[in-house]
Amino acid sequence: MTERIKIVIAGPRGRMGQEAVKLVENTENFQLVAVVDRQHNGMKLADILETTQSQAKVYTDMEDCFQNEQADVLIDLTTPETGYVHTKTALTYGVRPVVGTTGFSKEELQELRNLAEEKELGCIIAPNFAIGAILMMKFSQMAAKYFPDTEIIEMHHDQKLDAPSGTAVKTAEMIKENRAHHQQGHEDEKETLQGARGADYDGMRIHSVRLPGLVAHQQVLFGAEGQTLTLRHDSFNRASFMSGVKISVETIMSLDSLVYGLEHILV
Ligand code: NAP
Repeated sequence: MTERIKIVIAGPRGRMGQEAVKLVENTENFQLVAVVDRQHNGMKLADILETTQSQAKVYTDMEDCFQNEQADVLIDLTTPETGYVHTKTALTYGVRPVVGTTGFSKEELQELRNLAEEKELGCIIAPNFAIGAILMMKFSQMAAKYFPDTEIIEMHHDQKLDAPSGTAVKTAEMIKENRAHHQQGHEDEKETLQGARGADYDGMRIHSVRLPGLVAHQQVLFGAEGQTLTLRHDSFNRASFMSGVKISVETIMSLDSLVYGLEHILV
């Protein structure tokens, strides 16, 4: 029998974290060895999460966790500040991070990239684990060559902390690689209400909508003479992200550097 991949989940009570617990429990070659929560140090996961019988121990301190548990992979689904510290700590302890937490700065990403390289450890940071969203980004990149005028509208639930979404930023970065740079809109355009034209990324615009009832949705609109093209992806629940988490955990064991974006590991 092949050895199971030993996993720690950070943020297990969160909406994504709960789905990740189910994924790990329902995947034959995955083993949940511990969780890192903000509270409940020393308790068992089953004591704090009624959807599981797991006896995995709860830690509030990640270093404490890695000093006491043998882990191969950390799945982090917390908040930007915490996720960054967790990812650094995991790499320092030789544990490979699969990070769904969004909102890291460019400098933070570079620092994590350097650390992963120095440690020769795989690290996957994916702003979006939904396979359909990855395809939307790839199709957008293709379209940008022929439709250089584009605006991104991302729509999320109103509890999301970062804006624009990591997916929107990643989409813009991929579009930029294929799009002739120019400033969109009228050269004399003025906002009579600040923010009306959205955020400016390399001359294209990103708009962030936050409403209760939404999960994670994005449209990429392309406009050209006499035609528009709209690409849209919707995640209706957080289970939609778990196939990407599973692929990441399986792939990370054979990586020795940081990969930013699931599109780089989907073949
Ligand atoms: P959520 O429901 O608010 O869950 C976040 C969890 O993190 C909460 O349980 C929170 O605990 C916990 N947490 C905060 N600080 C912590 C710490 N220091 N140690 C341990 N746990 C800590 O949010 P969510 O919707 O699950 O999203 C989680 C993250 O995933 C966000 O960054 C979100 O943007 C991202 N996300 C990524 C994808 C993707 O595909 N990559 C998809 C959806 C969401 P408390 O309850 O005590 O505050």
